[in-house]
Amino acid sequence: MNTLSIRNLHASIGDKPILRGLNLEIPQGEVHAIMGKNGSGKSTLAKVMAGHPDYTVTEGDVLLNGQSIFGMEPDERARLGLFLAFQYPMEIPGVTIANFIRAALQARLPEGDELEATEYYAQLYKKMDELGMPRSFTSRSVNEGFSGGEKKRCEILQMAMLQPCYAVLDETDSGLDIDALKIVSSGVNALRGPEVGMLVITHYQRLLNYIVPDKVHVMTEGQIVLSGGKELALKLEAEGYDWVTAL
Ligand code: ADP
Ligand code: MG
Repeated sequence: MNTLSIRNLHASIGDKPILRGLNLEIPQGEVHAIMGKNGSGKSTLAKVMAGHPDYTVTEGDVLLNGQSIFGMEPDERARLGLFLAFQYPMEIPGVTIANFIRAALQARLPEGDELEATEYYAQLYKKMDELGMPRSFTSRSVNEGFSGGEKKRCEILQMAMLQPCYAVLDETDSGLDIDALKIVSSGVNALRGPEVGMLVITHYQRLLNYIVPDKVHVMTEGQIVLSGGKELALKLEAEGYDWVTAL
């Protein structure tokens, strides 16, 4: 039962259906990749799982270890261990990274428990060092004035600190140069383990050289149309997506 299970998921924005019966099963301990053309609905899937208010789920379900996440507020989903790193992370002026992550961790503790500050900062600095983030970032507002690559590192820092049981990473590679890509990937790989299921969304195969997935799924028009092993990503890189659409 330890799976993130997406079942016949249909979701619309306004009257426009985007997800059209998507099925996917990600067991804890596995890394799955979704690849697909721009506009196929990859980010929509991530946002629907986060509980973004612009999207309406019209059919289907998403079960986290057997429990439906729909009807839960985004923070409840997070407390259950779901984490989403967005393609276009939001800027939160006035809230420092250190306070933001601290509040997120504090929110998961039982009523009355206090996060231990010294321990928290020790962890935060350790993870920042691993991600090549200067200490000065702790006192900067979340994502405000960050470059594309800095935003992605900030997302991975949050993930590393929150240690989710399921993580969805939406185009974590976009905006990264090759050095940053390696650092971010090693940050993601450090989190891999039997307790974590990951869904890595990407348009390009490049990321999957560094985060090697157990399974690759191809998304077209809001559905998974093909699944395979990691070699499928190489085939898509070499041959494009058109042969999949023609199947
Ligand atoms: P991908 O991440 O695979 O590139 P998206 O999920 O971002 O795809 O988009 C899927 C489709 O939904 C696209 O046709 C896009 O134009 C449409 N879409 C996404 N967000 C909105 C929105 N806020 N309003 C209208 N259409 C949207
Ligand atoms: Mg997208």
